[in-house]
Amino acid sequence: MLRVGFIGTGIMGQPMAINLLKAGFPLMVFNRTKSRCEPLVALGAAVGRSARELAEQSDVVIAIVSDTSDVEQVLFSEGGVWHGVRQGMTFIDMSTISPRATVQFSKRLLEKGCEMLDAPVSGGERGAREKTLGIMVGGKRDVFDRCLTLFQAMGKTITYAGPSGNGQKTKLVNQVVAAINLLAVVEGLRLVRAAGLDAEPTVRAISSGAASSWMLTNLAPKILNNDFAPGFSIRLQSKDLNLVTQFIADVGGQFPGAQLVSSLFAEALRRGFGEAGNQGLINLWNEAGGQEPPMASGKV
Ligand code: NAP
Repeated sequence: MLRVGFIGTGIMGQPMAINLLKAGFPLMVFNRTKSRCEPLVALGAAVGRSARELAEQSDVVIAIVSDTSDVEQVLFSEGGVWHGVRQGMTFIDMSTISPRATVQFSKRLLEKGCEMLDAPVSGGERGAREKTLGIMVGGKRDVFDRCLTLFQAMGKTITYAGPSGNGQKTKLVNQVVAAINLLAVVEGLRLVRAAGLDAEPTVRAISSGAASSWMLTNLAPKILNNDFAPGFSIRLQSKDLNLVTQFIADVGGQFPGAQLVSSLFAEALRRGFGEAGNQGLINLWNEAGGQEPPMASGKV
């Protein structure tokens, strides 16, 4: 069985690592904040002292950290993965980062004979816990095939997207569709409030038809309950939309919806909402207008 090193035991990483342990993979974990490894140790994981040690002790190293610069740090800083890799091993990056940087990281790892897959995920914390993540994978096909059992232990819809960087490109398309959808839900709920409709039956009514979506099912109830705890934070949503902006500049063309949600999330970040869940986008208007009361339970 593949020996797996796992870096980044945050909101997503922790449940994903638990699912690898449950599937029987021998696991060594590393996290910048050590205490976040404890639940995994209780389930049988070993803890490494550095990302380098994980690389030295594993066949495959998986990382799910925050942004492009964090993956770069995990890989190439002193004590990073790159210093411990050897011919024949694989590094899988499951964070959402720049497709362009991904290709560069992959080339650099290959100099030491280490293959890289970019395998960002969608489905949120719940998908990570329930093993229903979508996983979009870029890299060599034979490397993908060798790692499929790992992906199957963490997710449900596993898609080979093509060469290095294509997993990240696919994920950015996902983020455009998802963020515009979230704006649609937020706008719908604000309209419900402005029109004086009863929120819960209205959401129920529109959930079964053409307006249904993951955002409506999962985030509208949170908004109605004034629950702005992060599954996916505004900070990370905004980070992804910055990646989208770069991606769009690379491919060229007009993408007004993506530009609009990018600017709205940037504004939410500026206003200090970064650590709230992305459903907190709605509070842009609560704060700005001063006329709309906060969402009350069940009513808007
Ligand atoms: P998170 O809870 O903030 O966890 C991030 C993890 O990365 C933490 O373990 C953090 O360590 C570690 N980390 C960050 N920067 C680091 C660095 N420079 N060096 C070493 N470790 C570092 O974030 P998350 O929600 O799990 O998201 C992780 C990735 O998955 C992001 O790329 C995000 O866009 C993507 N994603 C998230 C969701 C979601 O719903 N949350 C869904 C799909 C994809 P510390 O514990 O020390 O902070």
